[in-house]
Amino acid sequence: TLVLGVETSCDETGAAVVDETGRILGECLHSQKEVHLKTGGIIPTVAQRLHREHVSTVVHGALRSSGAAPGDLAAVAATVKPGLALSLGVGVAFSADFARRHRKPLIPVHHMEAHALTVRMLEPVEFPFLVLLVSGGHALLALARGIDDFLLLGQTLDEAPGDSLDKVARRLHLKNHPECSSMSGGQAIEFLAKQGDRHKFNFKTPMGQTYDCNFSFAGLRNQVTMTITKQEMAEGLNQGDMLSCVSDIAAAAQHTVASHIAKRTHRAILFCKAKGLLPESNPTLVVSGGVASNSYIRQALGIVTDATGLHLRCPPAKFCTDNGVMIAWNGIERLREGKGILSYDEKVHYEPKAPLGVDITAEVKNAA
Ligand code: ATP
Ligand code: FE
Ligand code: MG
Repeated sequence: TLVLGVETSCDETGAAVVDETGRILGECLHSQKEVHLKTGGIIPTVAQRLHREHVSTVVHGALRSSGAAPGDLAAVAATVKPGLALSLGVGVAFSADFARRHRKPLIPVHHMEAHALTVRMLEPVEFPFLVLLVSGGHALLALARGIDDFLLLGQTLDEAPGDSLDKVARRLHLKNHPECSSMSGGQAIEFLAKQGDRHKFNFKTPMGQTYDCNFSFAGLRNQVTMTITKQEMAEGLNQGDMLSCVSDIAAAAQHTVASHIAKRTHRAILFCKAKGLLPESNPTLVVSGGVASNSYIRQALGIVTDATGLHLRCPPAKFCTDNGVMIAWNGIERLREGKGILSYDEKVHYEPKAPLGVDITAEVKNAA
């Protein structure tokens, strides 16, 4: 069984052909990150234009490297929610047209569900399991109970951790740093933090008095940027110059982000245990998203899972970020259960806003 997956929810155009054993026969990815970096954020019309320019090349690239012909496919899976409307629209229209032309079923995929289930392509992880997704666009904790059955335990009330780290990195002018110029903000912070002393600065862990599993990173980011401004004045720096204490600030910021993520995750584990939501044997925490590749944050999560007896699973970085593979795999999972499969002549809709599963974030708060 072969499924073609197409991803265009944000700023990557991705496609892949995956089989029912999780083997990746072919894949192709075009990232717009460089372009959006120059404008300091994603301009939706630019993202749309770039998806339009690349979607056909990416899909045919994935097909060609897989050696499969369109006729060999069992279905086409496409991200339909959530994401930028103008980006989603391109992949959905292309996939619907492709499915129609080749008379293949179309499988609409929820981007966050796909992130959560990718781990099952790599190793056997049975439902239910706990998922932490931390990326440039999201922070959430959820219980995965089935391929389309999720309980949302908590999410960010403002920005995502990757976004905060990117903003701090920009504020520290890390693009001018000789060793970090080609890294993402989060990578640069991790790199510098290794050389720094986290005790030189002390940032307050967010939401210390809020007993739920939600996240908040904007206030922390603000604390960090205010400290940067203070240090710049103290050192009498010119605009764009590197602070002497840049590594110490990176280390303290990374530590506080890790501590916040670990504490919320700890609470989610305790909540699930108290409610009997996790299995007795092999209870598992799956961590995904670009920020999950941070080894300091993984270590902090490892302390939490060791203390609570959970298995920690972090797929390799390339499976934690946006790609067509996870969409194709979600198509495989859905085909296997016969869930959410449209025939090629059915109309497919996309939804920019779509929560992940049933929202029980308020219940978590009242239980604590
Ligand atoms: P989403 O997929 O939620 O829409 P996105 O595409 O921005 O958001 P990803 O591609 O999953 O997210 O991850 C990119 C983010 O991960 C960036 O914000 C980047 O700074 C961050 N990141 C990457 N590597 C690291 C690292 N080693 N430590 C911390 N953050 C990191
Ligand atoms: Fe994503
Ligand atoms: Mg992305």
